[in-house]
Order: sequence, then structure tokens, then C-alpha cells
Amino acid sequence: MPLLEPDPDALRPAPDGRAPSPDRVPESRAGGTPEPLRADLTAILGADKVLTKVSDLVRYASDASPYRFVPQVVVVAEDIDDVSAVLSYAHGRGREVVFRAAGTSLNGQAQGEDILVDVRRHWVGVEVIGDGSRARIGPGTTIARANATLARHGRVLGPDPASAIACTVGGVVANNASGMTAGTTRNSYRTVASLTFVLPSGTVVDTAEPDADDRLAHAEPALCAGLLELKREIEADPELTARIRAKYEIKNTNGYRLDAFLDGSTPVEILRGLMVGSEGTFGFISEVVFDTLPLDRRVSTALLFFPSLPAAAAAVPRFNEAGALAVELMDGNTLRASVSVQGVPADWARLPKDTAALLVEFRAPDEARQEAYEAAAARVLDDLTLVAPVASVTNGFTRDAKTIAGYWKARKAFVTAVGGSRPAGTTLITEDFAVPPSRLADACQSLLELQTRHGFDAAVAGHAAHGNLHFLLAFDAARPADVERYAAFMDAFCRLTVERFDGSLKAEHATGRNIAPFLELEWVRRRRS
Ligand SMILES: Cc1cc2nc3c(=O)[nH]c(=O)nc-3n(C[C@H](O)[C@H](O)[C@H](O)COP(=O)(O)OP(=O)(O)OC[C@H]3O[C@@H](n4cnc5c(N)ncnc54)[C@H](O)[C@@H]3O)c2cc1C
Repeated sequence: MPLLEPDPDALRPAPDGRAPSPDRVPESRAGGTPEPLRADLTAILGADKVLTKVSDLVRYASDASPYRFVPQVVVVAEDIDDVSAVLSYAHGRGREVVFRAAGTSLNGQAQGEDILVDVRRHWVGVEVIGDGSRARIGPGTTIARANATLARHGRVLGPDPASAIACTVGGVVANNASGMTAGTTRNSYRTVASLTFVLPSGTVVDTAEPDADDRLAHAEPALCAGLLELKREIEADPELTARIRAKYEIKNTNGYRLDAFLDGSTPVEILRGLMVGSEGTFGFISEVVFDTLPLDRRVSTALLFFPSLPAAAAAVPRFNEAGALAVELMDGNTLRASVSVQGVPADWARLPKDTAALLVEFRAPDEARQEAYEAAAARVLDDLTLVAPVASVTNGFTRDAKTIAGYWKARKAFVTAVGGSRPAGTTLITEDFAVPPSRLADACQSLLELQTRHGFDAAVAGHAAHGNLHFLLAFDAARPADVERYAAFMDAFCRLTVERFDGSLKAEHATGRNIAPFLELEWVRRRRS
């Protein structure tokens, strides 16, 4: 994953005669963590768990996001006591704490300028419960590792981000990240059975404990009363209740998960829901018990090429109706950029710019079901007008595991391949929105028009089955005119998504820094109307 590989040369001192890098850490920070922060945390946790050198701070200043925030200190937490101690220390002094797991978030939510807590290294472990229908997982465990364990039991986790090889269970739950197949029914919000978490006050809650609510009422009476008061307020307002329900009919991770107030009947149940997608702002998730899903091993997949993005998007509902588990869309920019990925046919570089493709996958538990899916898919194909602009295009379904793996490799390389091919020195922005799947073609057409109007040529790809698309665009953040152009585009894009499509401004990447200014646009406007 080249985007996540550090570049040690960037840290070396500039040779004589060369100007220092414009994003160098200011001279005042050269000594690393300032006092008394350094001495305080070292006294509480021991020197081994507190990283204070400027090189450590710089190492943690970047992640997969376009941002750079240098923390004051990094704590490598080894257990709940460490996390509780840091939270209590910060709580009493008004300091900020941000948790960092794998750092694959794309919007700056795993970065901070005060106390950064590494919660990946010491938090790994998978315990399969019973026949595998449940699993207790440490938050630092990668999704790929958890799934490798579960596969032996014929089970899989619901959330399936393309970053599964690197991202962690804690990060996925805290972002409510989903992926190719999770949609609205297989994400963390729907498949987390119970959570153990540490609140900012240091209170530890295991939502599976039968007396969890009694304990919470004793430890945090004001919090419990506040949660129940909010629940009453929402439920007393039928219009607001209906609005919240409607918002989560499509994928949505913009803001806190408000339907937790409707789905949970007790403070602990409400908190369990609110923790999902809260980006670590409500506390630290120290353990997750997931309800797992059957791993259907019989797979039929096709990569289908269409003359345009709207034409591909228009076919998506047909495959959804036929029972496809994944329908992934890739536009011409994405397809052409992915020739840099090993195994992708070289002739994709010559695909016409307007071409778009759908990666459609059916998964079945047995031969009879697989044949039924393939027959349904064939009926959809009969009605579609596909194109084969280059020789390697086959436009047919296959069961061949190697071919299928190649398709997915190309799809999952979206961020790295497109990011790697952008002009040097430009900033890469990844956006993530959702509209009702039935309106996807219209939304694609509008997005293309908007880009043209603002002089952008973004790459578009995403989880089309769920109306969830990503686009990657690059601009030069050092040029004020380019920043203005980008800001105008984002403003128009957010208005388009909300006002015309009643869509979500973040579908699975969590709110993050880029969309936070537009949170009210999505949620408050309709409340006032
Ligand atoms: C190439 C690439 C492909 C991607 N594909 C997808 C995709 O298909 N679908 C998708 O949804 N996302 C995708 N992402 C985004 C990202 O991988 C996910 O959001 C992932 O869930 C982040 O996990 P992480 O372990 O990297 O967490 P981090 O980025 O380190 O942290 C994520 C958030 O969780 C908080 N946090 C972390 N651990 C804990 C904890 N134990 N307790 C409380 N809070 C915690 C952090 O403070 C932060 O706010 C992709 C990213 C990349 C780089």
C-alpha cells in the first residue's frame, strides 16, 4: 500500500544550499514533547510507553489523509489502565486525546495536535465463540486477520473495506466503515453484538454484562439521564423520528449515529450504538464482539464494460434485483490509472475516457444457488448494451478464482493507483457520498457536469450497489486560486448531494475534517423546514 509507506528521505536534513522543506516542524518543536507534558505522562505510564522525540512525532503526523498534524506526544497504550490513565490526565486539564489505529482513515480523524494514543500494536487477538457465529476481537486486529481466523469456521465479518489488509477492527467500528458488500445491513452498527469501551471519565462499560445499566447508572448518573432525555425528545417528535429513520435507509456516516436513540431502550444500548461511527470521540473501544456472517464460497463474478458512467450506473439496480452481493463501479479514469497495478491488462490504458465498468459478484452457499444466480445474471446481461473497446475485455461471468482476484485487485487499488498517478506536489482528496441507488445514474451525470464546470477531472469509483461512490480529485493547495476553485466545487457538490438527491455527504468514511463544515447542511436544514 504505497500511500502508507513512509518516505525516510523526507525526514533527512536538507543539504547545504537547499531551502528547508516548507512543511518542516517549527524550530520551537525541535526538542520534541514539551514539559510538563513529557514528565507528567512519563511518571504516569513509564518512559517506554511515551514517545517524545521529534522524529516520533513527525512519524505520527501523517496518515492516509491529505492532512499533517504534529502531535505533542504519542502514547503507546498497552492495556485499559493505560488508556484510562491518559483519559483521566487529559480530562482534568482540558487536553485533547486522539486514538490512532492503522491510520488508514482518509479524512484526518486519526490525527491530532495534542495527545495521540497508538491503539494498534498491543490490542490484537481473535477468540472464536462457539461455532463461529460470534467472535470476540481486539481492536488492533486487522480485518484481514480476523477474517482469516473466521474462514476456518465458514464465517466472515460484515464490514469489508478495501483496506482490510491494514485497517483494524477498532478503526472500522469507530468509523462505521463498510465496503463492497456491507451496505446498510452488514456494517458495524448492524453486526456488533456487544462492545467494551472506556468513557473519557475512565468508566469502563461492557455492554454484554447483564448489570451493565445498573453499573452505568451508578457511575455516570448525569450521562444516563441525558441520554434518556434525548431519547424522549426525539421520540416525542414524529417528524424528526421519521427523518432519522429515512436518513439511514441509505449508507450514512455523517455525524453521530442518531438512530441509536431509537434502537436502544437503555443508556447502555444507546451508547453501544452511538460508539459506532463516533471516531473515538465518545471513548476508547477495547473489545468488540461481532455477529459474524456465513462465508458463501461459491463465487461468480464479471467485469462488465459500458459506454459511459451513467450507463453503468443505470444497470446497477438490475443486478441488485438479481441478488448480487457486490456491484462496484469504476470510471474511465480509474480503469486507466489501474494499469500500474500488477496483473491488470496493459490495454486498459487505451480504454476511451468515457468508458466505465461494473464489477458484479454473486456469492452462493451451494451449486444450485450459484446456478440460479448465474441464470438471473444472464437475463440481466441480455438487456444491456455493453462495449468491448480493447481486446482483453470479455464481459462475461466467470468462476475462475485467479481471474476474479485480478478484478478485485484492480478495484481495490483505486486510491493508490489514482493517487499515485496524480501530478507531483498536488493534494489528493477522497470523497465518499451516497444517494438512493435508484438515482445513481442521475447523480453520476450531475457529478460529471459539476466537475466540468469547476475544471476538475476526478476519478470515480465505489460501492454502486448501495448508491455509494467515491471520487478522488487532486489540486495544488499551495496556489490560492486552486484552493478557491476546490472550495467552490465542494460547496456546490455538497448542496447538490443534499438538496437534489437527499443524499449522505459521508457514506462510510466517517465525518472527518473535510465534511464537518457541511454537517449542518445535511442534518439541520430539513429540521427547520
Ligand atoms: C486504500 C484504502 C481503501 C479504503 N477502502 C475503504 C472502504 O472500502 N470502505 C470504507 O469504509 N473505508 C475504506 N477506507 C478507509 C479506512 O480504511 C477505514 O475507515 C478504516 O476503518 C480505518 O481503520 P484504521 O484501523 O486505519 O483506523 P484509524 O484510521 O487509525 O482510526 C479511525 C478512527 O477511529 C478512531 N479509533 C481507532 N481505534 C479506536 C478504538 N479502539 N477506540 C475508539 N476509537 C478508535 C480513531 O481516533 C479515528 O477517529 C480505505 C482507506 C484506504 C487507505
